[in-house]
Amino acid sequence: MRLLITESGKKFILKEEDKNMHTNFGMISGEDIKKAKLGSRVSSNKGVKFRLVESSFIDEYQKLKRIAQIIPLKDIGLIITEAGLTKESIVIEAGAGSGALGIFLSQICKKVYSYEIREDFFKLVEGNISKFGIKNMMLKNRDAKEGFDEKNVDLVLLDLPSPWEFLDVAHKSLKFGGFLVSYSPTIPQVMDFVNNLGEGFVHVKTSEMIEREWEIKERKVRPMSQAIGHSGFLSFARKIS
Ligand code: SAH
Repeated sequence: MRLLITESGKKFILKEEDKNMHTNFGMISGEDIKKAKLGSRVSSNKGVKFRLVESSFIDEYQKLKRIAQIIPLKDIGLIITEAGLTKESIVIEAGAGSGALGIFLSQICKKVYSYEIREDFFKLVEGNISKFGIKNMMLKNRDAKEGFDEKNVDLVLLDLPSPWEFLDVAHKSLKFGGFLVSYSPTIPQVMDFVNNLGEGFVHVKTSEMIEREWEIKERKVRPMSQAIGHSGFLSFARKIS
């Protein structure tokens, strides 16, 4: 798919190339879009200039339909790097929520198994998976407490309110050396998770990713003035016995 991008970086994915595109920067005619080559310039009826480029996974991803709170990109980055995920990795996540994390991991890993207790969320994620045409993510409308079908996996990721209640089921599905990662917004959750890990796991680290975006306009170079939002803490453990 192709993408229209303004000089300030606002972007619009072209779903139907020959249709007029309505944006808050005015309308761009379907005729103009059809004629334009990649890298060339098109203008809206309000005179705003766009460039035409190819869209990538991240452009679609940022438009993902979401209901539950998703794990933000900065935290997904840490999960991938700390757990050393590769194209050979087999991953389980619970719960699926909006499918944001699972869909991202499906682009990196060999297979993602995702468990979601709520039927309405399950249906939304099903829709998101098919919109992306993803074939290596398997979604199950199940309570993770009943256990996971998969065994010997590389990573179990818990993004649910009481991760410490899922240590046994995670342990049964992980390979020795496999990673158990828990994502929680509050410190009491982190305490209960880490303090209950037991002999089967070793706690590797707990971190909070703080990303600070900067504004760069000529010589006005400074951190963005919006408040830095809190997302969650990530706890990493490994199955050792
Ligand atoms: N990581 C997700 C967001 C997960 S939100 C994302 O990036 O989009 C937490 C989800 O866990 C919710 O959808 C909730 O319904 C689900 N959940 C809570 N308890 C569960 C359980 N016991 N089994 C499976 N899913 C559960």
